[in-house]
Amino acid sequence: MKNYDVIVIGGGPSAIITGVTGKKQNPDKSFLMIKEEEKGLVPCGIPYVFHDLGSVDKNMMGPAPFVAAGGEVLVDCVTEVSFEQKKISTKAGAEFTYDKLVFATGSIPIEPKFIKGYDLQGVEYIRKSYNYIQSLKAKTDAVKDIVIVGGGFIGVEVAEQLAKFKNKNISLVEMQKHCLCAAFSEKLTEIADNTIREQGIHLYTSTKVTEIVGKEGKVTAVKLSDGKELPADLVILSIGYSPNTQLAQQAGLQVNCNKAINTDNYMRTPVKDVFAVGDCSGAIGFITGREDNIMLASTATAEARILGYNLFEIKLVRTFSGTLSVFSTEIGGKVFASAGAIRQACESAGIKYICGEFEDVDRHPESISDASKLWVSLTVSPGTGLIIGSEIWGGKSVGEMINIVALAIQKGVTVYELISYQIGTHPLLTTAPTKYVLIKAAEDAINKIKQC
Ligand SMILES: Cc1cc2nc3c(=O)[nH]c(=O)nc-3n(C[C@H](O)[C@H](O)[C@H](O)COP(=O)(O)OP(=O)(O)OC[C@H]3O[C@@H](n4cnc5c(N)ncnc54)[C@H](O)[C@@H]3O)c2cc1C
Repeated sequence: MKNYDVIVIGGGPSAIITGVTGKKQNPDKSFLMIKEEEKGLVPCGIPYVFHDLGSVDKNMMGPAPFVAAGGEVLVDCVTEVSFEQKKISTKAGAEFTYDKLVFATGSIPIEPKFIKGYDLQGVEYIRKSYNYIQSLKAKTDAVKDIVIVGGGFIGVEVAEQLAKFKNKNISLVEMQKHCLCAAFSEKLTEIADNTIREQGIHLYTSTKVTEIVGKEGKVTAVKLSDGKELPADLVILSIGYSPNTQLAQQAGLQVNCNKAINTDNYMRTPVKDVFAVGDCSGAIGFITGREDNIMLASTATAEARILGYNLFEIKLVRTFSGTLSVFSTEIGGKVFASAGAIRQACESAGIKYICGEFEDVDRHPESISDASKLWVSLTVSPGTGLIIGSEIWGGKSVGEMINIVALAIQKGVTVYELISYQIGTHPLLTTAPTKYVLIKAAEDAINKIKQC
């Protein structure tokens, strides 16, 4: 039986980055990655396969950098792990022993078995699988009436892409008052809902799916809680993802209330030499200090880099604890982003906060042809002035601006420091130096703190 110094189970972003970072740090160690499918895809690019990219082949991702660094890849499925014997077994009958084992088994769509008709032919999911998405793309191309259930960012992005086909009838059903309500506060979700409708999507909010109706085993319609019935050739269920931890649990690892594997600051599980990284591992909220269900590729790869450096000894000390969720999406050319603790996170975690806000355009003067509106909100702890969260919406510049704010949150920057933040500005590229949005939002926060 062949032994590897490191075996990584999985082929997604966290497996690839753990593998390539770990191998580069430890060129003398042998690394094996075991992944289920030959071809891989960029998970975050999946919605764009349905229209903008036009094919799964334009959204491919694989472990080439890991292989180039000297790692080995096996296409197979790990079916059993023995921590006692430090051994894994695969579906194809192979067995290997390891010194270090990494679970990077990701997450899988939640199947609502409580909805009648969930198992009809024509009921689909957004699975992170090359073969599955290739087949789903062919199915979406062939039909007219598509109902998407779930207005989280995946459901919204898929609906936005499918609505670009003018011959299709796209409906989106969300049981909350607004779409995207886990990521944004009401002001932004209202704007997002309006933008979704502007794309020609029939949006039903505060509405539940009560039944998926079928004829001869095939879906024909979706029944809603208000009694309406939407015709459907295809139903895409996008009601959330769950950590894929069945294998880890069978092997004896403990999971948290979100079914994610318990790990410490260095992705170590309580079992010696066994790690978990990415969507399958638990996360402690950076600000909330609670177990948060954060499943993002950005988070997964950040964890994977830390793990890759630290597999054999702690070389890269993690100077912060907790995971900062940084999130962005684009709907119909408008960008929405958030980081850290926003209003509802503060309220549910009992954190006192104020919000400093400012609105302008992202060019100066605003008559520059590609100027977009830019609205910034900084969530601030009034006792200390610390920036603990942010929401931003506007044009493309929002995607990178939220990353700057995320760095400020991680480094414990206060609004008083942000006032003297040294910036570069240019008419064609940024907001004006006289009213730079982040600085003006910090000023607004300081004024509100004085009134506390
Ligand atoms: C449509 C969509 C859009 C998204 N957009 C964004 C975005 O814009 N930004 C962002 O930050 N995040 C986004 N995400 C989230 C992001 O995709 C995940 O956080 C990321 O995929 C997590 O990576 P991972 O490697 O931990 O898990 P996964 O990507 O789930 O990979 C897990 C891998 O493990 C393999 N595996 C599982 N069990 C076994 C086994 N027993 N043996 C062998 N292999 C196994 C699976 O086949 C899979 O390849 C999006 C997700 C989706 C679905």
